[in-house]
Amino acid sequence: MSRMDSGSPSDCPFRVGIGFDFHRFAEGRDLVLGGVSIPHSQGLGGHSDADVLLHAVTDALLGAAGLSDIGSYFPDTDDRYRNISSHYLLETAYRLVRERDYSLVNVDVVILAEEPSIQPHREAIKTSLARLTGLPPDAIGIKATTMEGAGLIGRREGIAVQAVVLISK
Ligand code: MG
Repeated sequence: MSRMDSGSPSDCPFRVGIGFDFHRFAEGRDLVLGGVSIPHSQGLGGHSDADVLLHAVTDALLGAAGLSDIGSYFPDTDDRYRNISSHYLLETAYRLVRERDYSLVNVDVVILAEEPSIQPHREAIKTSLARLTGLPPDAIGIKATTMEGAGLIGRREGIAVQAVVLISK
C-alpha cells in the first residue's frame, strides 16, 4: 500500500496555503505594509488600503482552508470595500478558517520591492502581524528582496508579496 492510500487528505491535521499579490505605486497614497504605515514618496494604488502584504497573507489563509480567493469575498467593484483597512479582510478570512476548526500555526512572507528598504521596518511589520493574527513573533517570517533592477518590480512600478501559511486542526 502506498502512502497515498494510507488515509484521506481530510484526516491530515495540517494544511498549507500560498498567497501572492502585487500593487502598483500611486501618488498621494500612504504606503501600508502588514498594517504598518511606512514613510515613502508614494503609496500603493488599490480599492482598499492596498496593503499588499495583508492581501497575500489573506489569500494564503483562504487557500489553506480550500476557500476561494480574496477577490471573490471582497470584490473591488463593491463600494463597501473602498479604502477599507485590510485588517478587516484578514480578520474575516481568519474567521472563515476558524469556523472550519483550523487555526494558524505560522506565516512566512517575502516582500519583493526595489524601494523602500524594508529592513528598518521589519520588526514593526512582524509585531503588527503578530498582533493581527494572535501568533507569537517567532511564528512569523518577514523577508525582503529586490529584483536587482529587473522587471516591473525592478523598475519601481510597485511591490509584490508572496506568503505561505500553515494551519492545523
Ligand atoms: Mg491586493
